[in-house]
Formats: sequence, C-alpha cells, structure tokens
Amino acid sequence: MDITNLTLIETIEAIKAKKFSEEELNNAYLKKIAIINPKINAFLEIQKKSRGIPAAIKDVISTKGIVTTAGSKILSNFLPQYNATVIEKLLEQGVSVVGKTNCDEFAMGSSGENSAFGPVKNPWNLARITGGTSAGSAAAVASDMCVFALGSDTGGSIRQPSSLCGVVGLKPSYGRVSRNGLIPAVSSFDTIGPIAKCVADAGLILDWISGADGKDSNCSEIASPLRGLAMTSLRGAAATKQSVKGLKIGMPKEYFSEGLDLNVKKVIEDAIKKLESLGAEIVEVSLPHSEYALAAYYIINPSEISSNMGRFDGIRFGSGREDLGPEVKRRIMLGTFALSSGYYDDYYAKAAKIRTLIKQDFEKAFEKCDVIVGPVSPTTAWNLGEKIDDPLKMYLSDIYTISANLAGIPGLSVPCGFSEGLPVGLQIIGKYMDEETVLNVGEVYEQSTEWRKEKPNLSF
Ligand code: GLN
Repeated sequence: MDITNLTLIETIEAIKAKKFSEEELNNAYLKKIAIINPKINAFLEIQKKSRGIPAAIKDVISTKGIVTTAGSKILSNFLPQYNATVIEKLLEQGVSVVGKTNCDEFAMGSSGENSAFGPVKNPWNLARITGGTSAGSAAAVASDMCVFALGSDTGGSIRQPSSLCGVVGLKPSYGRVSRNGLIPAVSSFDTIGPIAKCVADAGLILDWISGADGKDSNCSEIASPLRGLAMTSLRGAAATKQSVKGLKIGMPKEYFSEGLDLNVKKVIEDAIKKLESLGAEIVEVSLPHSEYALAAYYIINPSEISSNMGRFDGIRFGSGREDLGPEVKRRIMLGTFALSSGYYDDYYAKAAKIRTLIKQDFEKAFEKCDVIVGPVSPTTAWNLGEKIDDPLKMYLSDIYTISANLAGIPGLSVPCGFSEGLPVGLQIIGKYMDEETVLNVGEVYEQSTEWRKEKPNLSF
C-alpha cells in the first residue's frame, strides 16, 4: 500500500487501526516531497519534523514560528508570532503543517506564476500552469505530497487551481471560516477553504475549520455547527446513501456561451447529464448580470487591495515596496485610482452596485433550484508564460469563479473528466451557508464516477 494515496478519512481510519504510525505517515510524505517538489515547486518551506496528519498550508496563512511569505520577496523573512485561527483548529484535530505552499504574490493572479519564488508546475504536465493563486496547495494534493491542503479564495483561487490540477477544492461562504491570521487580499471577498483528495475529506476539513471566532467579526454565529456533516464524512461516502433524487440543479445559460472551450464544455455537459441520470432535475436559470462581474470584480478587488497593502510601508513588515512584483503594483495603482475623488462614483460606487445585482441574480436563480452547476475555468491549464504579459487575458480566466465571491456564496470544484489529457473541474455553487447541499451533490457525483481514481504520472 502506498500510504500517500489515501484520502484524509482513510488515513484517519488506518491510523486508528494501527496500520501504520504517524511517524511512518510523515516519513512517507516527506520522502515524496523530497523527490517531487524540486520538479513542481509547490512548497516554499518544508517541516522535516512534522508529526500528525501532514497538511500543506498556503503561504498566505500565518503559522507561528514558520516563515510566511505570501509569495512575496518583501515578506521573505516574515516570522508570524501567532497561528491563524484555522491552524489552531487543525492542530486540535491532530493535523501538522508539513509545509507552506507557493502562491501568486499576495494572492493576486490566476496561474501560479506571480510568486517571487518561481512558478508552480502542473503535475499533469510540467510545461503547464497549475492555476492560481493556491497553486502549490493544489499541486501538492494532486501529486500526493500531503494528505490535504488549505488554500484561500478571493476570486477563484481555491476552485480554479483545483480544477486545473484535478483535485477537490471548496470555497466556503464568506464568513463561514475565520480569516484571522490570513494575510488579506480583498477583505470582503477572502475565504479560507480545503483542497482535498475527495469531497468527503473537504467536508470534514470544512467542519474542522469553520465556526464563529471572536477574532473575525465577519465570521458569523450561523457558521457553526455544520449539522451532521462531520458525521457523514467520517462514515465515508459509500455508507451515507446520499442522493440527488428530486434535487433541482440550475444551469445558467450565461456560463455556456462564448469563451468556453468546446472540449471543456462537452466534459461539463456530460457531467450534468450524469447528475440528471442520478435523479436530479436540470433547470435552466439565468444570471443576467454575469457579463459585468469581471469588470466589477477588477474594480473592487484592486480598491480593497490598495488599502490593505498600505500596511507594507517598510516600517511594520518586510522590506520596501520596490520589492513588489508587477501585478501587485498594478493593482495598487488601479485601486488607488478607482477610489480617488472624482473617480470614485464612476468606478467603485458603480462596481458596488453591480455586486448587489449579482447577489440578487443568485437569490432569484436559487428560487428555482438547489444548486447551480457550470465550469470552473473556461479552459484547461495553459502553457507556462502564455498569458503572463497580458493581464486582461489572465483576468478573463476568472470569469466563472468571481461571481461566487461577489455574492459571498459557496462553490466547489470536483474533477469531472479530461480534455487532451488535462483535468477539468465541475463547479457546484450553493446558497449562502448551504455548503451541505453543495458537498452532497459533489459527493454523489464523485462516487458515481471514476475520475477521482485518475492520478498524474509522476515518474519524471
Ligand atoms: N485570479 C483572481 C485574482 O487575481 C483571484 C485570486 C484569488 O482568488 N486570490 O484576483
């Protein structure tokens, strides 16, 4: 048995049954990291003395005594004095940090190439990007270098790399998981969530990390408990007898039009047919303001970024701003412009209105259905370097993920097939704080297909 192939739930059960020790578990993963990481560049920091269930943590999440860089040169020596709330919660469950994962600088990007420490490479094809910004976390799970990972999602950064690397990624509702200790990008969009080997694992991890926290006032009381989710997850998918029978699954027509790669479209449509054959009712829904989502997101995002980045003044943290990469500088400039007097009403105020309209689109659509499905990414993983000099092209790849952040609702990426040998993810979007239905649909789909068994060939 290769220990590193096991899911989180299988790993917990195997340890309980004394099939191997935690020491053996960590040694197996550390051995794998030593062989594979030099090719993929998923980890920036490796904890050789990891004991417990080894998890990989995106390097925007503060870990006490472990360097946390946010993929930026300016934080290359930043040693947090405290753990993020999510880390404390994982430690309570017997999880250990096996390493910190590479990411686009300050979580800005869509390809994993904006890190000051070099790009992350896709385990399915080393010439391809992983997607971003939780690039290293998705690549580490896809190549079995950890049992699971945490990422952060501001506009797609958990779902998109999970989709392009063929793993499960869940962006929780805004306010489900505490942001305390997360280096912020866009405070009103940022969420922390799991990247995992199967949907049941993602549910269990969500259960571990979610819940109200006095250190994040936006982390709401209704965030916990996730009734029954941990129990069903621990019993394993096969035993739960979940079903999608009678569930209404919404297909937004705006997500299947121009811009969607035809091969990806076919894979997604097949996945939806599968859900239909499992008893779900497919209904057409409309999200009419989708066409404005990208414009609104790329005003609000840089605006909040320009304010959040003010803390990097060369006094409190790290080195000076001259060390920031081009994408971060671009966003600070765009945001400062959008917020400046004389332009605020034309840009930020308009974008904020669109945000409300998008939220209302979802509320209306959810009157007709229980979840909404569609693609995560308009294409599979593209070539390294292909979009790096064209920010607009890069931004366009976020077209299907950003709306869930604008609306604050949950979204899951589940592997649903391949196009020319590269993974495709199905996105399942749910009502605010209804992660349970999203996870159930994901799990039923996953367990009735074989995609989760596909692994990249890592014999480089
Ligand atoms: N690609 C999006 C951006 O660059 C999303 C990033 C994220 O979710 N952190 O803003």
